[in-house]
Amino acid sequence: MKAVVVGATGPAVTSVPDPAVALSSDVGACVIRMTRAMLGDEDRRSALPRQAPVTLGRAFVGVIDAIAPDATERARDLRLAPGRRVAVHPIIRCGTCDRCTSGLGAHCANRRTLGIDRDGCFAERVAVPLSVLSAIPDSLDDDRAVFAVAVSEALECTRHVRVEGKAYVTIVGDGLSALLSAMVLGRLNAAVRIVSTDGAIANSTEKLGIRHRLASEVGRRGDQHVVVDCHGTAASLALACDLVRPRGTILLRESREPASLGAIVGRELRVQGVALGSLVEALDLLSRRQIEVAPLIERRIGLADVPAALAAPGHLATLVRGD
Ligand SMILES: [Zn+2]
Repeated sequence: MKAVVVGATGPAVTSVPDPAVALSSDVGACVIRMTRAMLGDEDRRSALPRQAPVTLGRAFVGVIDAIAPDATERARDLRLAPGRRVAVHPIIRCGTCDRCTSGLGAHCANRRTLGIDRDGCFAERVAVPLSVLSAIPDSLDDDRAVFAVAVSEALECTRHVRVEGKAYVTIVGDGLSALLSAMVLGRLNAAVRIVSTDGAIANSTEKLGIRHRLASEVGRRGDQHVVVDCHGTAASLALACDLVRPRGTILLRESREPASLGAIVGRELRVQGVALGSLVEALDLLSRRQIEVAPLIERRIGLADVPAALAAPGHLATLVRGD
């Protein structure tokens, strides 16, 4: 089957063995036929040449194609069967380490991440354990359901800080994660705004009714209760520190480079990292149309176009078809 594999010479469309051939609980209890994947910045960062080849791709939805014979009983318990449409959580937990058994499964000591250290979803079929699957409601189409991973990250912000009733909430960022954060947090607080370093998402914010200012125009008064940094650079964290009030909270959605931490000490700031959240909650939000993600789709491509798309910047969502 076709897959986008990154090896010593960078990403390329390659023919690889179909995971259905050797399906067992060792490699994954089921095989998913990928119908829609999302290509994002994490995939672009994972696409650097490496010695040990891996299939790229982190976020996807698909249809259960086959279930390993030794997993059929567990699949029945989970109401999963061939033909079922599912969203897939990209982090695979061992389920047995100290963290997994003490409620910190998201931080499993033996975790594997699709597209990073386990074969990912830019492929016709993907082997994964049943534990990472969430059934997609019939009312939710693939184009929207594939946003579940990205929406779960935005939802996770609300687990760490209350934005309801806060006077000033700013999201720093230039792309999809900033827009989704604004859509999710904006349901709870009308004061949410995006501050971006360039105007590339200005059209989208206007269409979606999201307040937007350019970083060069915004007053750095240190009066924001909460700042969400979706960019993760030294400059974006410095901007977040300038915007947030003393003892305020910065939620870090990204971390791409080392940054100066002086302002965090001096102004007694609270900095909270934010990782992936629950796909079930994200699918529920999407299926109830609490947020409308269709306007965020920028491009639709096939697997053959993925290597070129990995090398090109994108502000909104690039969706990959599974054909
Ligand atoms: Zn574990």
